[in-house]
Amino acid sequence: MTAQASAPHRPDPSVETELMVLGAGPGGYTAAFRAADLGKRVVLVDSAAPLGGVCLNHGCIPSKSLLHTAKVIRDAGGLEGVRFGSPQLDLDAIRAGKDRIIARMARGLSALARQRGITVLQGHGRFTSANGLQVAGPERSTAVRFDKAIIACGSAPVRLPGLPQDPRVMDSTAALALADIPRRLLIVGGGIIGLEMAQIYDALGARITLVERMDQLLPGADADLVLPLARKLGRRYERICLGTQMHFLAATDQGLRVRLDDKGGQIEETYDRILVAVGRHPNGANIGAEAAGVHVDARGIIAVDAQMRTNVAHIFAIGDVVGEPMLAHKASHEARVAAGVACGQDLRFDARTIPCVAYTDPEIAWMGLTELEATRRGIPFENFTLPWHVSGRAMSSGSGDGLTKLLIDPVSRRILGAGIVGACAGDLIAEAVFALEMDADAGDLALAIHPHPTFSETLALAAELAEGTITDMLPPSYSRG
Ligand code: NAD
Repeated sequence: MTAQASAPHRPDPSVETELMVLGAGPGGYTAAFRAADLGKRVVLVDSAAPLGGVCLNHGCIPSKSLLHTAKVIRDAGGLEGVRFGSPQLDLDAIRAGKDRIIARMARGLSALARQRGITVLQGHGRFTSANGLQVAGPERSTAVRFDKAIIACGSAPVRLPGLPQDPRVMDSTAALALADIPRRLLIVGGGIIGLEMAQIYDALGARITLVERMDQLLPGADADLVLPLARKLGRRYERICLGTQMHFLAATDQGLRVRLDDKGGQIEETYDRILVAVGRHPNGANIGAEAAGVHVDARGIIAVDAQMRTNVAHIFAIGDVVGEPMLAHKASHEARVAAGVACGQDLRFDARTIPCVAYTDPEIAWMGLTELEATRRGIPFENFTLPWHVSGRAMSSGSGDGLTKLLIDPVSRRILGAGIVGACAGDLIAEAVFALEMDADAGDLALAIHPHPTFSETLALAAELAEGTITDMLPPSYSRG
């Protein structure tokens, strides 16, 4: 008899808790922290050891760190009247810098969890019943019995059928690991991830081909906002193929051979690496939700009501797993609702808008109604677009091709939507979100004194345009004769 066979059977350790949160991304950790602050005993479960989920470990934060490096390289190269030598890249140091930021922030989250008395369990969690979850950890399995649960298990990159299992074919996680800089990189998907990763690899020296199946980059955004970015990228990248499908042909020692098909014909090319960024799918299908009676649809989405409750009243779901938009700031907002309701508060998710930001150069941000959506839904609006060449700050910063536009209700003059392309657009859009939430009209924005010279002035100037009071350019009354 072997020693192993004679070892006594050790039962799974078990934990009882008032609230179990499955997933420790921005949705999950916010929910866990908030519920602990409201007095609940909380267990937080995640398959990865560092807290923070995709956002901190493989998404928003590492990409922002690398985008910062990319922007400094580009800005230094384009500074008028100053010439630097060509950049010397130390990829190990760039990678280490990014990893240090992640590690420091993850340590901060762990400390916050510890200080709140939250039990953190590492391992893949699967429901075993409506009040039970089994956590398969790296060394042992733990049974968690809970009164209430919040599912915040996120999403994973969509894989394209027909592509081989080859380290040269990357998703966003692999691309952010920055194994090397390929000579020629094909990026499939011209959405937010594709565009952000293209800017990183371009600045680090790769020649980029970007393939998007729709007729516009960032298909969800208004075309006028995308144009300044598309023009800039068109001058830098090897090729941008819109309305194009990629067909994989072969993986050889020389590279990855593909065919690109558009309305005009076909070309065959070989690339050193391919990055697939064609969306993400919710992770609802692999947590054993059926054992808890929680309904998951064919796309892996868990439906919830305005209180973030699933079809099982004591189980909530938040973040990417409840569907689009899959954004960290939506998840953390939903987390506060779910945690509050689980703790007896009467809350609802009633945000009027969830802003979107592409951290490209120039940045693109939008909130509320887009022109695309207003037109599709037949909602009347007036469009007031301020070109940034009237802004002294934008001109002094090489951002004269930016735009700030407001969509205004023709009757009430209230702000329906806003879009910005240019430096700091992602930060500037927050003022428009606040204005929309406060039911502000164009006059409110125009009459709030904005500091000069700042990018933020462009929002006030766009509002002055709507009010007909602008003096920095001719008001619309002149063109009406
Ligand atoms: P996405 O849906 O934003 O963009 C995917 C793009 O790929 C779309 O433009 C789509 O038309 C295109 N596409 C799909 N199939 C294709 C094909 N076969 N060939 C060519 N093009 C194809 O998805 P993403 O960029 O992968 O991002 C995933 C999610 O993560 C999104 O929900 C996004 O909002 C979120 N995210 C947000 C940020 C941010 O807020 N800055 C950053 C990264 C990711």
